[in-house]
Amino acid sequence: MRCKNCEHVLWNQPAPAAGEQRLCSECGEAYRVADFSFERGKVRFCCPDCDTAYYGTSAQGHLEPAEFDCVGCGRHLSMELCVLRPHDERREADAMQRVDLPWIVGRGDGRFRRWYTTAALSLTNSGRIAPMLGRAPQPLRAAGFLAINATVACAGAAVPYLLFVLIGVGAGGGLGGDAMAVVLAIAAYLTIVAALVVGAALPAGAVALGMSAFGAKRGGDRFWRAYEVACYSSGGLLIAVLPCCGGLLGGFWWMVQCAQAFAAVYASEGARFRIAAAALSVVGFVVGVGLVGILVSAL
Ligand SMILES: [Zn+2]
Ligand SMILES: [Zn+2]
Repeated sequence: MRCKNCEHVLWNQPAPAAGEQRLCSECGEAYRVADFSFERGKVRFCCPDCDTAYYGTSAQGHLEPAEFDCVGCGRHLSMELCVLRPHDERREADAMQRVDLPWIVGRGDGRFRRWYTTAALSLTNSGRIAPMLGRAPQPLRAAGFLAINATVACAGAAVPYLLFVLIGVGAGGGLGGDAMAVVLAIAAYLTIVAALVVGAALPAGAVALGMSAFGAKRGGDRFWRAYEVACYSSGGLLIAVLPCCGGLLGGFWWMVQCAQAFAAVYASEGARFRIAAAALSVVGFVVGVGLVGILVSAL
């Protein structure tokens, strides 16, 4: 059990007075026991007065019922008022329930399944992404996920363009004399797809730059973690496979989900802080998209 802001160990921290927030003793970050999931029976929730231990039985390893009177001293308790200790101090890591992003773990799942479960999550609820990134950042893995989404999106969005070119060539007198034109059109198309797939890293990078600067003051988001969050929120790009205006919508939806993901990073802060995080991620995103525009128009 670690502070989500500074990684400080939160086991054995003194319980807060009733009605007060639990604060990380290292950085002062507020946290709730409910923000963590534990393995059932691996955590002792101890009464701060008499040290009687209780064990969580819910799916998250939380205490059931949520409030009760201590059998040792009669004090009214909830798990937020308890001192938490791992059942086995030498194996405290085993006490935590690990929920990783499917793309990263997916025990035994194929690559396709890991991709689409992660993409579905980032298409609909990016706020859940950051808490699932508990391991050391793996930026290449995140970049791979983004590249797949960008490829699918480009391929889908560009089909009408290709059809248009082919029909144009067909109407212009058959394929015979214009085979070269078709080859050129396909080559141009592939070049643009490649540029967009590589270029998709620019919005993610620009967002990560802004968000790591934003979080730095609080010891929060480092660059590669922020880059991961930006990449994993890119499921929205898949909307680009819709005919006609899908390309724009896909980019827009990635931006929205990216903002949501970063707002969730600061879930324990005030609303102002969350809005600032979301807004800054949008600014970074727009700057990054501008860079992609320059890249593509230079081709
Ligand atoms: Zn802390
Ligand atoms: Zn007690």
